[in-house]
Amino acid sequence: MSSATQSSLLSLEQALALLLAQAEAAPILEQEWVALAAADTRVLAEPLLAPRDMPPWANSAMDGYALRYADWRGAALAVSQRIQAGSAPQPLQPGTCARIFTGAPMPAGADTVVMQENAELDPAGQVLFSGDLKPGQNVRPQGQECTQGEVVLPAGSRLGPIELGLAASLGYAAVPVKRQPRVAVLSTGDELVEPGQPLGPGQIYNSNRQVLISWLERLGCAVVDGGILPDDLSLTRAALHDLAEVDLILSTGGVSVGEADYLGQVLREDGELTLWKLAIKPGKPLTCGQYRGVPVMGLPGNPASTLVTFGLLARPYLLRRLGVQRVAPLAMQLPAGFSWSKPGQRREYLRARIEHGRVVPYANQSSGVLRSAAWAEGLAEVMEHSTLAEGDSLRFIPLSELLG
Ligand code: AMP
Ligand code: MG
Repeated sequence: MSSATQSSLLSLEQALALLLAQAEAAPILEQEWVALAAADTRVLAEPLLAPRDMPPWANSAMDGYALRYADWRGAALAVSQRIQAGSAPQPLQPGTCARIFTGAPMPAGADTVVMQENAELDPAGQVLFSGDLKPGQNVRPQGQECTQGEVVLPAGSRLGPIELGLAASLGYAAVPVKRQPRVAVLSTGDELVEPGQPLGPGQIYNSNRQVLISWLERLGCAVVDGGILPDDLSLTRAALHDLAEVDLILSTGGVSVGEADYLGQVLREDGELTLWKLAIKPGKPLTCGQYRGVPVMGLPGNPASTLVTFGLLARPYLLRRLGVQRVAPLAMQLPAGFSWSKPGQRREYLRARIEHGRVVPYANQSSGVLRSAAWAEGLAEVMEHSTLAEGDSLRFIPLSELLG
């Protein structure tokens, strides 16, 4: 049982370093073989090795004629065989060439391909080549892509269309992946109602649940939907009690200063709790801890705060638990299409777009406005203690980097 509150603000880097260290201390180790068709978004548990050279044999990169370069003296050559993709060629008869098509194996003895645009059939059926010929041209050598036994994808690779295509090209029908992390999503707040239900006085629809469920699925997690948790101590205790089997309990709401903090109270009693104050805006308060050994992360409830803290902190944490090394989003430096005259204590993540090559923030940056993020293409970073003039360079993190 322990509890602590940070007295000074934690920088994003400090918070991220702490979370990544926690993730590395609690790695997901179990693995399973999953068919390629079901392995999108999953993380490779073992390096994927090339079971054979790729391509397995030298082949033609062009439709044309295959020859031994040394046989060519500028005179026409007879065509001694025709090699389609998918066929097995005979060795090339010395002093002849072979009609060959893209992807067809090179016949033994041939080392060069002339594309058909540079070849002309004479009336006797022999081919004359024009243009420069370089030895080895238009041939894809055996093992050009990889050689047998080579690591083609390291463990910890995230699998998407390209990686799965690469695995398919090597003949894998299934791949060894980490099991999906089970993440429980809890939405706290008496005011929350699920869409489809009538809204009573003072109530709003629960949007964070939907954001997090869709997002977690994109990250390859298995979601346990904990539903809406009323602001009530015994219900909170009971809800947590039912979540013993998950890898992470992710809650939103109820971490604002001054609020009756039921989640925190249960963690203090039955686990561990640290209340973080982050030097970012939106997204200052964050609860971290564990409940009976299960890590718990409590994100602030305002929709834009949930988005920023999930994208910048929970996402890399989860990926690192799966053994993913590159968890930082790719970002770009772009000129600001706005100015910022009041230096802030906290780093701001503005929901923004790129217009004419410049970063333009959504007009209303209230953390309650999720529409700002739907409009936006990314998060524009305005550093703490700093001002910006139009045209100054700032960091822009595309939402597409965070969402996948
Ligand atoms: P809290 O962190 O509980 O003080 O919530 C901060 C703000 O976010 C309040 O305006 C809440 O109504 C709102 N909020 C909390 N949870 C959700 C949710 N799941 N969906 C939409 N808004 C929420
Ligand atoms: Mg609340």
